[in-house]
Amino acid sequence: MAKPDYIICLECESEVDEFTWRDGEIRRAACDVCGNNDPDAFALPEDFEQDFEDDDGDEDEEEYLDDLEEDEDDEE
Ligand SMILES: [Zn+2]
Repeated sequence: MAKPDYIICLECESEVDEFTWRDGEIRRAACDVCGNNDPDAFALPEDFEQDFEDDDGDEDEEEYLDDLEEDEDDEE
């Protein structure tokens, strides 16, 4: 994976471009805004955006009751 242009601080959601990237992972990072310097508390922009889109709840309730029909042929 290529090094991203910036990462997101999960503590304050700021964009941070001062970080060490190695082997596809964030090795070191420091947020100027809140002082967070725990690499685990940063996310890639891609991951962050995906989390955001999942915020919408699915309100479509589809019924799968058809599957509940008895499907057992017990012929002894
Ligand atoms: Zn921060």
